[in-house]
Amino acid sequence: MPLSTMKRVLLKLSGEVLMGDQQFGIDPAFVMELAKEVKAAKETGLEICLVIGGGNIFRGMAGAAQGMDRAQADYMGMLATVMNALAMQNALEQIGVQTRVQSAVQMDQVCEPVIRRRAERHLEKGRVVIFAAGVGAPYFTTDSGAALRAAEMRCDALLKGTSVDGVYDSDPKKNSDAKRFETVTYSKVLADDLKVMDASAVALCRDNNIPIVVFSIREQGNLARVIAGEGVQTIVTNEKK
Ligand code: UDP
Repeated sequence: MPLSTMKRVLLKLSGEVLMGDQQFGIDPAFVMELAKEVKAAKETGLEICLVIGGGNIFRGMAGAAQGMDRAQADYMGMLATVMNALAMQNALEQIGVQTRVQSAVQMDQVCEPVIRRRAERHLEKGRVVIFAAGVGAPYFTTDSGAALRAAEMRCDALLKGTSVDGVYDSDPKKNSDAKRFETVTYSKVLADDLKVMDASAVALCRDNNIPIVVFSIREQGNLARVIAGEGVQTIVTNEKK
């Protein structure tokens, strides 16, 4: 499907983009910039589901590497994603975009639980739905959460906004000859272990035929360009080109 004909998308932002130029945590000014990008995308008429990572605050693997119990550390990571979701909700509502946060770990005082039919209704009413806490289980990541919600909400694509402008055949930070793919198949991503999303997320998208669009969210206006089909990105699909 051409990107410009999409009706509903899931936008996944890694936690690190919320740091702005900081080394850790949340930079409210940068979160506001991201919120403006989301608002501009919404104004094109798209229905938007959002999933935000937690790596700017806590990653379970990092905790486990320092001797913590992995599952316990992952629960902390999931809570970090809820903090990021609330920060994004705050920024979006400050600029007039109505939102609801739905968390896979129930937190009644803070946000709604994940209820698909309710999420559908929010989208119909023009609200952005922010899905927090990934899949709600340890040993997963928010990439898997994003793939799961994209399938569940029947999104036309999973847009992965990150710090690089697509998928490369090797690490562009280490290799100046690294080449960016315009399109690449799920099978190649999995077979060559290309750094897109973790394997379970890629497999879920492959099995449900959800294109993954990898692009840089750090450049102003890029999300709108990608949605218009004009941006710099890599599209991961089943089609061989
Ligand atoms: N996490 C988890 N289950 C999930 C989603 C997230 O356990 O379904 C935990 C995991 O510890 C992960 C952390 O939350 O490291 C933050 O998420 P992620 O690493 O995906 O964030 P990102 O890299 O996108 O910022």
